Amino acid sequence: MTKVLAEDLARRLATQAVHAGQVPDPLAGAVMTPIYQTSTYIQDGLGRNKGYEYARTRNPTREALERNVAVLEGGRHGFAFSSGLAAVDATLKLLSAGDHVVCGENVYGGTHRQMTHIWARLGLTFTFVDAAETERIAAAVTPRTKMIYAETPTNPMMRLCDLRAAGEIAQRAGALFVVDNTFATPCFQRPLQDGADIVLHSTTKYLNGHSDMVGGLLVLTRDDLAERIAFIQNGSGAVPGPFDCWLALRGTKTLALRMRQHDANGRRIAAWLTTHPMVEQVYYPGLPSHPQHELACRQMKGFGGMISVELGSVDRARRVAERTKIFVLAESLGGVESLIGHPASMTHASVPPEMRRAMGLTDSLVRLSVGIEDVDDLIADLDQALGGA
Ligand SMILES: *Cc1c(COP(=O)(O)O)cnc(C)c1O
Repeated sequence: MTKVLAEDLARRLATQAVHAGQVPDPLAGAVMTPIYQTSTYIQDGLGRNKGYEYARTRNPTREALERNVAVLEGGRHGFAFSSGLAAVDATLKLLSAGDHVVCGENVYGGTHRQMTHIWARLGLTFTFVDAAETERIAAAVTPRTKMIYAETPTNPMMRLCDLRAAGEIAQRAGALFVVDNTFATPCFQRPLQDGADIVLHSTTKYLNGHSDMVGGLLVLTRDDLAERIAFIQNGSGAVPGPFDCWLALRGTKTLALRMRQHDANGRRIAAWLTTHPMVEQVYYPGLPSHPQHELACRQMKGFGGMISVELGSVDRARRVAERTKIFVLAESLGGVESLIGHPASMTHASVPPEMRRAMGLTDSLVRLSVGIEDVDDLIADLDQALGGA
């Protein structure tokens, strides 16, 4: 558990991304946080140490990352985990058997799988609703509801959840409001300001941004909740190693810069796709044709680089996914390099087909994670792949 110091002078995100939570190393004054690759720390005497005893509980490299992301999200406490799903796991461990969760039906496939295959067996109950329809969230709340869990924009349908409205429902119900902010990042969306109790990240994606580590993070403000999460982080033990924390911390330094380019490229490519004859529909909150564009403009400062494209036929989707040359066919998202994926067979294969159909996730949908390359090269690549389709 790492508390953010209030005297931090860095007020704006691009400055915070570079500096927040980091102090010069006390030994040599190293400007960049060293990788404290150790499992244990010397004790000066019985019960006397420098505040560090064992690296599952505390590690200075991990703490620098936790403080950094906590500041970026406008929270007070950050907790790093060995994956995004380990962070999901830690939030659900705040609950007890018999408790009920209202969850957005479009959440990350692995989140849905963990809830329905692990937590349901252990006694939590779940109702999955279209979180874009605020009334559905409210209607699903029962006296046992202890958590409302949302992701916005959703993966891959880019549906938005009105955070203020959902936060009010959670507050009325006395339930925790958890928001997965992996897609938007704190550059474009600040859920804690809109009523979330806990913000969740897969740092694997945009926060690290270079597709070279797997990690998760939780940010929150309430001290009582932070104490319980700290207990779970240490007690369950799904902590990241110092090297992965160092990579993620190196990643967050350029977050503001990268997100600006993901967003600029995303907007250009989404607009271009809408004009392409092979494209049936483009899902991107930045397009005026997006049914929740007005909410997107109110709730988000940018729209990022995630775009889903309906191609109308499975064969066409397969051919496009296999023919791009710069867009790499791979799982994951949020790296500097552009990726293309087929949600039905890749990220969302674990979601039951009926449920996929109900949310509009067809077998002919492809998802783009637009990187920071030159946008004209990216458009040319998509054009040749679509032309061949
Ligand atoms: C990838 C992802 C996760 C899971 O994170 P891992 O680091 O892969 O465990 C959770 N939520 C969203 C939105 C994701 O994209």
